[in-house]
Amino acid sequence: MAKPLIVCRDLDIIYNKGKSNEFKALTGASTDIYEGEYIILFGASGSGKSTLMYSIQGSLPPGNGTMLIGGEDIYAISIEDRVYFQRYVMGIIFQQFNLIPSLTVLDNVALPMIFANKDKPTRNRRAQSLLDRFGVGMVSHKITPMLSGGQQQRVSVARSMVNDPKILLADEPTGNLDSVSTQQVMDKIDEINTFDRRTVIMVSHNAAHLSYAHRVYYLKDGAIVREVVNPQRKQIKPVKEGETIVTELEQLARLFPYDSIETLRVKSLVNFLTQDYTFTQIERMEKMVQSFITGKIDRDTYIKMLTLPYDRGGVAVPEAVARKMAKTSKEILHQADDIRRFRNGHDKEHVFFDQHKLAERLRDHMLKAHRMKLSKKQDDNLVEIIADRVVGVTDEGIFHEHLQKGVTVGGLAITEKEADDIVRYFEKLVAQGVDVSYKS
Ligand code: ADP
Ligand code: MG
Repeated sequence: MAKPLIVCRDLDIIYNKGKSNEFKALTGASTDIYEGEYIILFGASGSGKSTLMYSIQGSLPPGNGTMLIGGEDIYAISIEDRVYFQRYVMGIIFQQFNLIPSLTVLDNVALPMIFANKDKPTRNRRAQSLLDRFGVGMVSHKITPMLSGGQQQRVSVARSMVNDPKILLADEPTGNLDSVSTQQVMDKIDEINTFDRRTVIMVSHNAAHLSYAHRVYYLKDGAIVREVVNPQRKQIKPVKEGETIVTELEQLARLFPYDSIETLRVKSLVNFLTQDYTFTQIERMEKMVQSFITGKIDRDTYIKMLTLPYDRGGVAVPEAVARKMAKTSKEILHQADDIRRFRNGHDKEHVFFDQHKLAERLRDHMLKAHRMKLSKKQDDNLVEIIADRVVGVTDEGIFHEHLQKGVTVGGLAITEKEADDIVRYFEKLVAQGVDVSYKS
């Protein structure tokens, strides 16, 4: 099995150690990053994202723990070797661009090659070709303050690639850019990952960027609190069975490893429909749902079977309840198709659009199912909360928390009980729609 390129183990980073303003910015951080992965370090401002990134870059020696890159402890090697790492193994892009304002664009990009013993024509040729590639070749003779923010950042992308690094580090590279420039820079970074097959580690607090990554590490108060696998990208890191559970269906898959996805869907659906039934009833009901899902029986037959008395093979559900079950089953299956289509979509350009549209549809569906009336703000918040859950940015617990948060801070301000109902219902939708194919 492939070994990770970057292994960070139990890393603690303390600023101003021993002084009165001592600050523990990172506690027990562990990551395994594989060659070719696109990793996002995600979290609120001050959560330790940059600290983790600069520790990977070799400029923040840890108080405790180790940082291995390509099997070498970069804090145990000589200074010369570490400089070599920083110069030739890693490229870096900053939020503030960090270009030298008195130099031309071309010289800024050619500069890191000076230490590589390349002659001037070679340096300039390579710099110009990278500038061309990143769409800023025509401004190579200008000094950098004459460029727009978006252009400056593309110049820094070119500069970061000049020594052909294995790993590209980017600290909120689009933090100072408008939306058009943001898209251009994100596309270029994506290209470096997917086309040049470089490992990319990006710090971001923009949820819209998460779909680019293979995996996302969530940081909070200096700790990695969660690792989420993006189901839309084929994984490079071997996914261990049972790790990174996104939905209930994966949980079920772990409990019932030999069952087909179809069977798991049935279990999940029945599980939702049958909070109050006995085990035998549930078993029978599973068979009925299975037939209904696969189209072997129609709605009326389904209802009839559900209402039949026990001794005749039914589950003795009152007719009104059976009708409701049929209706809900249909709705859940229908909505699940939406989610599945979304998750199977590979068209990056449309991801955000679709995600939003899907979230809006799910919101409509939820509002109807729960007969809720919301204010405009609550309504907008609900779409965001759903969108985050659908792409796996949040888990069930955080989804639940968000629903209860105040309206001004992005929540719906509903009670715990109401949130319980919504979450329970919604998780079935997500579970039905999830694509777990990356597991095999
Ligand atoms: P993020 O990138 O997630 O916004 P940082 O990693 O930059 O967070 O910082 C994490 C915490 O460490 C913050 O509270 C920040 O104030 C503190 N910090 C960062 N750099 C230093 C430093 N050089 N000296 C003291 N504290 C620092
Ligand atoms: Mg930062």
